[in-house]
Amino acid sequence: MASYSKPVEDLIEALASLPGIGHKTAERLAFHILRSDREEAMKLAEAIRRAKDDLRHCAVCFNITESEVCEICSDPGRDRQVVCVVEQPKDLLAMESTNEYHGVYHVLMGRIAPLQGVTPDQLTAAALVERVKSGQVREVILATNPDLEGDSSALFLSKLLEAYEVKVTRIAKGIPSGSQIEHASRTILSDALRGRQVLHPQAT
Ligand SMILES: [Zn+2]
Repeated sequence: MASYSKPVEDLIEALASLPGIGHKTAERLAFHILRSDREEAMKLAEAIRRAKDDLRHCAVCFNITESEVCEICSDPGRDRQVVCVVEQPKDLLAMESTNEYHGVYHVLMGRIAPLQGVTPDQLTAAALVERVKSGQVREVILATNPDLEGDSSALFLSKLLEAYEVKVTRIAKGIPSGSQIEHASRTILSDALRGRQVLHPQAT
C-alpha cells in the first residue's frame, strides 16, 4: 500500500493526537499546512512553542500564566476569601467576562469522569483542600459545568470540603442543564453566580 513520506505521516499523526481531530481531519490539516507558505506555518509552530515554553500553571490556582502566580491571584483588589472552582482555564475566562466576580479561582484541570478514566487524584482537588485548610477561605463556589460529570465533580468536592470550616455553594441552575459554562451568556452566568445555592454553610 502506498503511503506518505515519513515527515507527512508524522505531521498527520501529531495532528490526529489532538482531541476531536480524527484521521481524515488530521490529513486535511496536514495538507493545508504543507500548502501554506513557510511564514504562516512557522507562526503556528512558534505559537505552540511559546505556549509550552512561556506559559505555565499558576502556583496557587492553576490558571494559565506567564509568571509563577497569575494576575488574578496577585491582584490585591481580589477577595481571597472567596474561591470559585472551575473545570478549565476557559471557564475562568467566561466567569471573568461577567465582571461581577471579584474573588479568586481554583482551576480543577478537568472533571471527574470515571468512564474516561479521570479520577479525582488526576485533578487539583488536593491543592484546593490545602487552600481551604490554610484557613483564609470563607466560601468555595463550585462552578463546574451543569452536566452529569460536572455535577458529580461538584458533589465530590462538596463532600471533600465538608470536614472544613468553609461555606460551599453551587452556581444556580440558571444555565440549561447539559450546556457548557464557556458558552453561556454573561447574563446567564451572572444570574447563576448570584443565585448560587448553599450546599453546606460554614461551620461556626
Ligand atoms: Zn492564580
